[in-house]
Amino acid sequence: MDKKKQRNHDPRRIRKALTELLAWHVDYGRHALPWRLDSDPYAVLVSEFMLQQTTVATVTPRFAAWMRLFPTIANLAAASEQDILSAWEGLGYYSRARRIHAAAKAIVERHQGVVPLEQEDLLGLPGIGSYTAAAIRAFAHDEPAVVLDTNIIRVLARWENLTSPVDKAAGKQSLGELAAAFYPKTGCRAVASALMDLGAMICTAGKPACDACPLEKSCKAVQPERLPAKSPRKVTTKITEHRAWWLREGKLYLEQSCGPRWTGLWILPELGDEKPSGRAVAELTYPITRYRVRMTVYPSKSHPRKGLHSFTRNEIAGLPIPTPHRKAIEAALHAVAKG
Ligand code: SF4
Repeated sequence: MDKKKQRNHDPRRIRKALTELLAWHVDYGRHALPWRLDSDPYAVLVSEFMLQQTTVATVTPRFAAWMRLFPTIANLAAASEQDILSAWEGLGYYSRARRIHAAAKAIVERHQGVVPLEQEDLLGLPGIGSYTAAAIRAFAHDEPAVVLDTNIIRVLARWENLTSPVDKAAGKQSLGELAAAFYPKTGCRAVASALMDLGAMICTAGKPACDACPLEKSCKAVQPERLPAKSPRKVTTKITEHRAWWLREGKLYLEQSCGPRWTGLWILPELGDEKPSGRAVAELTYPITRYRVRMTVYPSKSHPRKGLHSFTRNEIAGLPIPTPHRKAIEAALHAVAKG
């Protein structure tokens, strides 16, 4: 059923919807988002990396801090990995920090420090896939591009009442064809911003505010809260981690992770063969990909293992530490101080 609709996207319906959408956006769009103020390509690049898997509310203050630390691509390319990881703390998914660092170096080496505008050049940069390339083309350069992020997918899927799962081939194709028809040849920056803002503010993931929507008259959604359709979620797996607490003469022992999750970041070491005993100094649960991890931190009676490094509290404050471990360390220090 979707296929029939996609072949016959009515250009007049789309034009009318675009006019209404853009008029709404002039009055209600999120024009004050810091990366939108002057469409600086470097700022757009940073925001796109940060916004992958992280909310606008979390990114906004971190973006400002980042731009103060690394105001240009050249500054970012020249920075140390540890400085980059520290600046990324709190945003999660640290591989993105490494990828933006690598992208900045490549832009300096291959493009004289200027963010390219051609799709092919963008796709040749580390960490830039088709979505990010399209977003940079639209937001930084106002070039023709079909930007499809989570918010835009939701708006378009509902507007057209696409009922095929959008994470399966048929649904992706329907959505791609609709998006290609919806985006104009010029003015992609305004259209992408407007669709994104509509998805974030009106056509939200829970119950959309259709009464306030500029697309209400042309929208075909029957049960919008059920769209976009997706395949059933993978089951979350619970796992348990026991971490060791070695606080000796005011210094805490940490290890530098070489695992895939937090490579290069400082974490509480695993308890290893030692059996958990006594009272835990910290316990917390955190989600990561499809896992729900229960982390418990126990004071260790043995000597700190080889390969660990000890840090004062001041030094810990400046280390790149993933958020769950930072929280566990703070909770444990608090518990130890209280006795
Ligand atoms: S009318 Fe409702 S479902 Fe349709 S696009 Fe607007 S908010 Fe979304």
